[in-house]
Amino acid sequence: MILPIVGYGNNVLKKEAQEITKDYPQLSELIDNMFETMYAANGVGLAAPQINLSIRLIVVDAEPFKEVYPEAEGFKQVFINPTILEYKGEIWSDFEEGCLSLPEIHEEVARPSEVVVRYFDENFVEHTEELSGIRARVFQHEYDHLQGKVFVDRLSSLRKTLLKRKLNDIANNRVRTSYRMKMNPTKKR
Ligand code: ZN
Repeated sequence: MILPIVGYGNNVLKKEAQEITKDYPQLSELIDNMFETMYAANGVGLAAPQINLSIRLIVVDAEPFKEVYPEAEGFKQVFINPTILEYKGEIWSDFEEGCLSLPEIHEEVARPSEVVVRYFDENFVEHTEELSGIRARVFQHEYDHLQGKVFVDRLSSLRKTLLKRKLNDIANNRVRTSYRMKMNPTKKR
């Protein structure tokens, strides 16, 4: 089932998401729905807050990047209750990110090129893994959603100011997308 995607401005994207246990209701169905939703919107990652659930769950499939970034191949994964244990490598600055919750915005974001992460997979088996290149990039973008952050929060205040109109349009449901978005509550002035 395809779920509506929450847009910038909704409070669920500003909250720190909560850990879950393996008894979380209909977890495997939820994971299937998140993959379906992500593919339908041509995304490479989706975090649960983006479907209005404030829980620590991420799905990724970076396959579309594999022509340019070979390490993307096979990076289809579920991350439950992830934590970043270590940031490593160089700072990688010249990659333009986008986000299903921030349609029509693409900006270069600086992030470490490697991270060591601990997480549970869809069977609640624990893993510790080093991710690098585009894997680290996609993971960190989604991880930010669990911390109540979106990628524009990582831009300089000048760049964020320049995006203000676009961000307001999203927050006030004035963007068109090829995928279904959840309406943001209308703000009082
Ligand atoms: Zn995002």
